[in-house]
Amino acid sequence: MGPIIVWFRRDLRVDDHAALYHATRVGLPVVPLFVSDTELTRRLPPDGAAFNFLTEALAELRKNLKALGGELMTRRGKVLEVHKTLLKELQPQAIYFNRDYEPSSIEQDSKIEELYRKSGVEVQTFKDTLVHEPSEVLTGDGKPFVVFTPFANAWKKLSHPAPFGEARRFTTAKLASDGILGAGELKREVSIPSPVLPGGEKQANRRWRMFLSRKIGSYATNRDLPAVDGTSMMSPYLRFGCISIRKMLEDCRKAHQSAAHAERASIEKFVDELIWREFYHSVLYHFPRLLESNYRREFDRMPWKFSVVLFNAWKKGLTGYPFVDAGMRQLNQTGWMHNRARMVVASFLTKDLQHDWRLGASYFEEKLMDIETASNNGGWQWSASTGVDPKPMRIFNPRLQSERYDPESKYIKQFVPELAKVPAKFVHGPHEMPPALQKEIGCIIGRQYPAPVVDHAAVSAEYKRLYVAVRSHNS
Ligand SMILES: Cc1cc2nc3c(=O)[nH]c(=O)nc-3n(C[C@H](O)[C@H](O)[C@H](O)COP(=O)(O)OP(=O)(O)OC[C@H]3O[C@@H](n4cnc5c(N)ncnc54)[C@H](O)[C@@H]3O)c2cc1C
Repeated sequence: MGPIIVWFRRDLRVDDHAALYHATRVGLPVVPLFVSDTELTRRLPPDGAAFNFLTEALAELRKNLKALGGELMTRRGKVLEVHKTLLKELQPQAIYFNRDYEPSSIEQDSKIEELYRKSGVEVQTFKDTLVHEPSEVLTGDGKPFVVFTPFANAWKKLSHPAPFGEARRFTTAKLASDGILGAGELKREVSIPSPVLPGGEKQANRRWRMFLSRKIGSYATNRDLPAVDGTSMMSPYLRFGCISIRKMLEDCRKAHQSAAHAERASIEKFVDELIWREFYHSVLYHFPRLLESNYRREFDRMPWKFSVVLFNAWKKGLTGYPFVDAGMRQLNQTGWMHNRARMVVASFLTKDLQHDWRLGASYFEEKLMDIETASNNGGWQWSASTGVDPKPMRIFNPRLQSERYDPESKYIKQFVPELAKVPAKFVHGPHEMPPALQKEIGCIIGRQYPAPVVDHAAVSAEYKRLYVAVRSHNS
């Protein structure tokens, strides 16, 4: 009998992996497969911070599969073509894989299912990436939710799947494999000098255990302070499936049971963030047009501006707004950005600079190691007020955000070192320093650090006028 192919995609681990767990229980040889999708990489921007993370995660997956007796087979090419070849080469009994909810994957997966089924090969797909799939969390009328809180309430009422646990040992025949392709071989530049975290299942578990034992209890207090290591930083690991979401949720449930009252609220807040991830997956699944377009159609008329100079200043972290600049430099240097900073830089690009959110989303795609299409799209549309969010339009004041969330300016000074000597009084608005002080500390505004590229009060007033015009045009 032919083997079972277990096709790995965004689920690069062996522990509590739905498809692998089930395949190894059948008792046939198992071929763990990863396909480097050359069609996909061709369409992506030339920079790709996530590639190194992916390569590291794959290298560890290979090691962990070996420990179970197996061998990771990697192939490079157009996904459908690779599967056509494998069908002939392996004559498999079955193919098992975990479901992916991104619009492009859904389309591709249905073609692959058809290919195998037509040849009489069994296809089994599993829920793995999410606790509850988009089709499971619906309104009483069977419609998708477009507001977070009712989605979260419905999500919480469902019974959560328990972790499956470990895969059994299995065998794999020696097969031709393309090896793990690095970013260079895929013609990707990786310009992140200090990646925030290494990829892989071991690191994912290490980080998770540390967060769970030391930080989750104070998450609610610390999660908004970018200078504090107070969030889980699990986002790249969740993106590449280096850890099981079922296991994380189960750990949260156990931690909640034994936690003190004050810590319970923190754990609940953390679980809410995991639900945001599922909410955005659900939104994109049900409204795939959001990949390209505004959820709120009135924004189709928004007269977005474009200035190369301003867009580059934003990308490089040279806007003259220290908190915005710290966020962008954190992204450029580490491939990750704190959530509070993501919200502020996105508001700044869309509301202050009045640039289209799609430009920002695609820059994040190049630089983020945790790039997750659904969350990135959701986060950008939320920030631009174009998305599934009923709150009135909000414009973050970058200076007030800075004073509130980085009161000791530790975050700013870490990522904008030219402001290191700026006294506390001026650090959130360095252009207000008297010229003599600028000279004395060696931070001349316009030379060592830019003056603000726009006046926040003036541009936000202009934005409000545009917003009202756009809305009234449609009413
Ligand atoms: C403009 C913008 C773009 C974003 N792009 C992405 C992206 O590409 N990939 C991504 O994973 N997150 C994205 N987010 C959401 C959020 O910023 C990150 O998930 C979070 O900062 C990751 O850090 P963490 O793992 O320490 O989060 P924690 O605070 O520890 O949260 C735990 C997990 O919950 C999920 N989560 C937390 N906040 C959100 C949120 N607002 N939306 C969806 N899921 C959330 C993530 O999986 C995260 O790892 C974006 C937010 C904004 C405002």
